Amino acid sequence: MQTQPTASHFINGAYVEDTEGTPIDVIYPATGAVIGRVHSATPAIIDHALNSARTAQAAWAAMTGTERGRILRRAADIMRERNHDLSVLETFDTGKPYQETSVADATSGADALEYFGGMAATLTGEHIQLGEDWVYTRREPLGVCVGIGAWNYPTQIASWKGAPALACGNTMVFKPSETTPLCALKVAEILHEAGAPAGVYNVVQGLGDVGAALVSDSRVDKVSLTGSVPTGRKVYAAAASEMKHVTMELGGKSPLIIFDDADLENAVSGAIMGNFYSSGQVCSNGTRVFVQSGIKEAFLARLAERLGKAVIGDPQDPETSFGPMVSESQMEIVQGYIAKGQDEGARLVTGGARLDRDGFYLEPTVFADVTDGMTIAREEIFGPVMAVLDFEDEAEVLARANDTEFGLAAGVFTRDLVRAHRVVAGFEAGTCFINSYNDAPVEAPFGGVKASGVGRENSKAAIEHYSQVKSVYVRMGDVEAPF
Ligand code: NDP
Repeated sequence: MQTQPTASHFINGAYVEDTEGTPIDVIYPATGAVIGRVHSATPAIIDHALNSARTAQAAWAAMTGTERGRILRRAADIMRERNHDLSVLETFDTGKPYQETSVADATSGADALEYFGGMAATLTGEHIQLGEDWVYTRREPLGVCVGIGAWNYPTQIASWKGAPALACGNTMVFKPSETTPLCALKVAEILHEAGAPAGVYNVVQGLGDVGAALVSDSRVDKVSLTGSVPTGRKVYAAAASEMKHVTMELGGKSPLIIFDDADLENAVSGAIMGNFYSSGQVCSNGTRVFVQSGIKEAFLARLAERLGKAVIGDPQDPETSFGPMVSESQMEIVQGYIAKGQDEGARLVTGGARLDRDGFYLEPTVFADVTDGMTIAREEIFGPVMAVLDFEDEAEVLARANDTEFGLAAGVFTRDLVRAHRVVAGFEAGTCFINSYNDAPVEAPFGGVKASGVGRENSKAAIEHYSQVKSVYVRMGDVEAPF
């Protein structure tokens, strides 16, 4: 497959290159081979992208929601038709197994385009009668939105941000992570092919400095970031200085609580989905797995058995169920955490080593006897490392589950549904699961509380973050004045 893109950036309906920008090599995580090269955006490229988005916005907003929605839905159809090729590319970009990318990336992007495309025509204001007078509201776009993505779900993030933004009549400049620059270009190409006018959805490549330049530019009205908490703090502060709107989808260290009465097989499946999908590189992962003492040994034994069935190998092979880390540096970060876990006295149940092969492969790793103060129980690792902690009772575990600066997600496995709802009500987290983990349908709001974020993606809730309400008072009679 051709992995070298036509050019680095997609601006104003066309691929654009500027080789003055710092070169960024695209590395295939499964082999370490260079499979492409793009260039970071120069000031001239950033200028071109922002001007194009600004210029295109008024005409895009002036189209009816039905017309905009039709384009988004057409883009969704194209994305589904090309799912195979897009999934292969996503696997080259991220190293995630094709077994995952073929069902979780372009398909998820298409869901967002379809959902918000369908919603575009329904976005209306309201009428408020006040005696003879009345107020009506207009739901208006924000203007130019900047999207900045992490490297774990490049197609999905580019679509989850683009679809609601465009549905509301905004235009977008999207910057993917420099680690995974390929897939967002395809999203731009497909939207253009589906009929989005030039300048409506643009992609520029670059490192953090390009993101920073976009965030602080006065032509930008809103910033939506998917990234780590430290980056989120910087971007939020820069956006605040110009009073820009923000959505922050940041990291987590989410709890997954498994009570004695849980269905063991489902609890193990949930813990696997919440720790090892995408080699553990998922923001909402339930990486602190609290297991009640009565089920602990059975849980660990079954977990180790199930992990032994992971098919680790060439991620393009549809049989492979566990792939490499996205980059050498991310692998090294995770190895550092594994070493810390051992140094601080956690019990290594399985995994822990790098695989003796090309690429950035780590074994799925489980630590037991983890205590709350250990580094692996406090910091986001963003790799295939599960920490299993013991607990005895509900009140104790809930307090410990919430004792973190993060609040992205949380889950509970129990057959006692009254308890499940009680525990979920007590979670300090934006996205919760009962007897499941890590489902992210477009119909459901997704996002975090506390340091894990601001705002929600997906669902009707996203509309609030990509539009603003104008209130119009209409007087039907004379105006009274004091003098
Ligand atoms: P980073 O925070 O390092 O980077 C995120 C994006 O921000 C990248 O495109 C990066 O560019 C860019 N960036 C970096 N510095 C700045 C800056 N000063 N101004 C503007 N943009 C900047 O995250 P990672 O890419 O390492 O992704 C992993 C993190 O993302 C994890 O913490 C994870 O939890 C979180 N995440 C959150 C999700 C959620 O929905 N809540 C979903 C997925 C991931 P570049 O990388 O090119 O330097």
